[in-house]
Amino acid sequence: MTALAPRPWIPAAPAARVEALADAAAARTPDEQLAEIDRLVAENHQIHDLDCFNLNPATNVMNPRAEALLAARLGSRPSLGYPGEKYETGLEAIEQLEVIAAELVADVFGATHAEIRVPSGAIANLYAFLATCEPGDTIVAPPPSIGGHVTHHAGGSAGMYRLRTVPAPVDPTRYTVDVDALRETAHEVRPRLITLGASLNLTPHPVAAVREIADEVGARVLFDAAHLCGMIAGGAWENPLALGAHLMTFSTYKSLGGPAGGVVVTNEPDLAERLDAIAYPGLTANFDAGKTAALAVTMVDWQVHGQGYAASMVGTARRLAEELAALGAPVFETVEGHTRSHQFALRAHPWGGGQAASRLLRRANLLACGIGLPDEPVDGDVNGLRIGTPELVRIGLTEEDMPRLASLVVRGLAGEPVAEEVTAWRRSLTGVHHVRQPEAALV
Ligand SMILES: *Cc1c(COP(=O)(O)O)cnc(C)c1O
Repeated sequence: MTALAPRPWIPAAPAARVEALADAAAARTPDEQLAEIDRLVAENHQIHDLDCFNLNPATNVMNPRAEALLAARLGSRPSLGYPGEKYETGLEAIEQLEVIAAELVADVFGATHAEIRVPSGAIANLYAFLATCEPGDTIVAPPPSIGGHVTHHAGGSAGMYRLRTVPAPVDPTRYTVDVDALRETAHEVRPRLITLGASLNLTPHPVAAVREIADEVGARVLFDAAHLCGMIAGGAWENPLALGAHLMTFSTYKSLGGPAGGVVVTNEPDLAERLDAIAYPGLTANFDAGKTAALAVTMVDWQVHGQGYAASMVGTARRLAEELAALGAPVFETVEGHTRSHQFALRAHPWGGGQAASRLLRRANLLACGIGLPDEPVDGDVNGLRIGTPELVRIGLTEEDMPRLASLVVRGLAGEPVAEEVTAWRRSLTGVHHVRQPEAALV
C-alpha cells in the first residue's frame, strides 16, 4: 500500500510515474530499499559520467577534492550566529571555514560582502528581493523570451514574496533588454528593483545604462549571474558590480563548477546588513558547512585556474556554434554573432521545440534542454534549444574537438543512432580539468 496520496493537480503522465514508483517503494523491504538506492546512484553515474556528454550549461562536474568535503561530516553540524559568537559550542573549525569561503568569494568577485549561507540560486534571489523590496512592490525583470528565470516572476521567489513583476521590454537582436523602452517602463511603473541576467546570455547586458535608469526612479539593480558567474570569476565577462549593479546573485553548481548552492555579493553596506539579518536569524539555522567548505575549494580553483577555464568555455562555445552553423543547424544569431559567452541556442522549430529536440538528443546520449527565444513560438514547447560548454571543458574537451561534437549533435538531431559513438568517446575522457590538483590523482 502506498502512503503517498495521488497529486491530481500535476499532469497525468508524471502523476502515473510517481504512483508507480511510490507503489514499488512501498513494496520493498528495508534492505531491498537500500539496494535500490545504491543501484540508482550507480545508474546516475553511468548516465552522467560514462555514457553521455552534458551540453547543458546548468550543470558541471566538481573538483573531486571539493566533492569529498560534501561527505566529510560537516553538513549535519548547525552553525548558528556570528563566527566568534556561535550559539552552539564545538564550532571552532566550522566558523573558520565559513569565513574563508566568504573571503575567497569576495576576492574572486571583487565584492566587499559575500553571503554564502544560501541554499540555492533561487533562494539567493529571494534574499535579494527581501533585501530590497516589500510585498506588493513592483519589479521589472527579463521575460522568458530572453532567458528570464521563473524566480523573477509570479511563479517563483518574486511571486512567493508577493512582488508584482513587469516584464522588461526586449531587444531581440541582442537577446537582452531594450534600454530606451525600459526607461519608459521604469518611469511608468516605478519599480523598487530592476533585474538583469538570464538562463541564456549571448551578449553583454546593459548594466551601466540600467543603473542610470534605476537611479532616475529610485530603484536598485540586481544582476542574476546564475549562469554567468564562471565567466565573471574568470574575467571573461565584465563584472556587473563594477558596472553599477547593487547586488549580484548566482548558483554555485553551474559554470562555477562547485557544490549545489547560492551566493549573494554586494558592495553596498546597507544591503549587506540586510542580507546578514536575512541569513541569520532570518532564513537559516544549519546552512550546510559541507557545501561551504566545498565552495571554498572551488574558489581556490577559480583563483588559480579561473582565467584559463573561462576563456576555454567561451572559445569552445563559439567554435561549437560555428561548426553547427556550418553543418546547417539553425544557430540563433544576435547582432554580435552566435555568442559572446559560454552558451548559445539553436532555433528548435525543425524538431517541434526545444524540449522535443532535447529528447532526440537524449537518444544520442547528448544531454541538453530547451530555452525561450524572441522568435516564432512553438505550440506546447519552448522554441529554443540551449547548449553550453562548462562541463565539456571541465572533462577535457577543447576547441579542436568541436567539429566532431557538432557532427554528432547534428546526426543525433536527425535521429541517427550515434549513442554508441558518443559513449565510446565519453569513456575515453578521464579526469577533471582546470582544478588545483595534480591530474594524475584524479579518476
Ligand atoms: C538556474 C537559475 C536560477 C536558480 O538557481 P538554482 O541554484 O538552481 O536555484 C536563478 N536564476 C537563473 C537565471 C538561473 O538560470
